[in-house]
Amino acid sequence: MRRILYPLLRRAGQASAQSSLAVGNERQGPRIQAGTCLLQVRGLRNLLLRLYVVFLRANSMPLMTEAAGQPHAETSLEPAIQIEHVSRHYAMGEESIRAVDDVSLMVPSGEFLALLGSSGSGKSTLLNLMAGLDRPTGGRILSGGRNLAELSSLELARYRRNTVGMVFQSFNLLPRMTLEENVELPLRLAEVERGERGARIHEALERVRLTKRMSHRPSELSGGEQQRTAIARALVNRPKILFADEPTGNLDSATGEAILTLLREIQASMGMTIVMVTHERHLAERFADRLLTMGDGKLLSSAATAGYSPASLASAPSAPSSEDQGARQ
Ligand code: ADP
Ligand code: MG
Repeated sequence: MRRILYPLLRRAGQASAQSSLAVGNERQGPRIQAGTCLLQVRGLRNLLLRLYVVFLRANSMPLMTEAAGQPHAETSLEPAIQIEHVSRHYAMGEESIRAVDDVSLMVPSGEFLALLGSSGSGKSTLLNLMAGLDRPTGGRILSGGRNLAELSSLELARYRRNTVGMVFQSFNLLPRMTLEENVELPLRLAEVERGERGARIHEALERVRLTKRMSHRPSELSGGEQQRTAIARALVNRPKILFADEPTGNLDSATGEAILTLLREIQASMGMTIVMVTHERHLAERFADRLLTMGDGKLLSSAATAGYSPASLASAPSAPSSEDQGARQ
């Protein structure tokens, strides 16, 4: 579906640009014709965009969320998500790969949890199970009083849309769309009224300090700015839990730190649970509340950090990255 829609959208965009040029060069009669053509092409683009939203809604892509619950002021003992003896085994011929192997874990509401571990230790698999992107081969995943393992595909899609936001290492923004359109997508999926969308988009982009760039396309932004846009998109529907799979993996260290500072700020202001996979232990120690280490599909250790303190960060020798300095307003 994406493969069909992208080229069509691109062609519609190119045709639109060509029509715009034609309008400038022709006399009145052809100008009207070109204007009509432009309107038709824009109509086609909007139609294709709408079709794409319908497709995403049917498949409930992970980057999309919708309004969910009241914010939590701080970490509580109420679980945002609880997993009990969860396994995800892959059958590979005779062999079985135990990507996640009998893991039990409780993530309290409002916690910032970091998942560490070597490559292939099962971090992404565990995150995807908690985000409802995959189903366990054994065990229970409880969120909001429901066991995700027992939900129908439709209910699981609703969980992904209603309760979680997702941020990826490679940002996963749609390249042909502006920042505004990228951030608008989850609102369309959640069928938020058109009149309300503008304010919500503005609010989300304001949180990541990118309102001035909303008509830009992702390719015109730095990596840090693209990740901030992806965060705005993940937050625009106010999810209960934000899952982030190596959100700083493609960024330089100062930009990565700026992204984590931002996530922490957003968590405090919106009240949210964050589960983040990372390779960067030093960042996890400074920003997360708790570190879990995985190895061979199992949880090896769990340790509380000294706790996040914006004041200590302010005094830490960490200049914002050059790419982010320019972007901040
Ligand atoms: P991490 O995120 O910690 O690097 P993953 O969760 O991606 O690790 O993978 C854990 C293990 O599961 C790896 O050995 C990986 O090869 C395996 N694995 C992941 N996805 C699949 C799959 N779809 N089919 C078979 N094996 C998989
Ligand atoms: Mg991974």
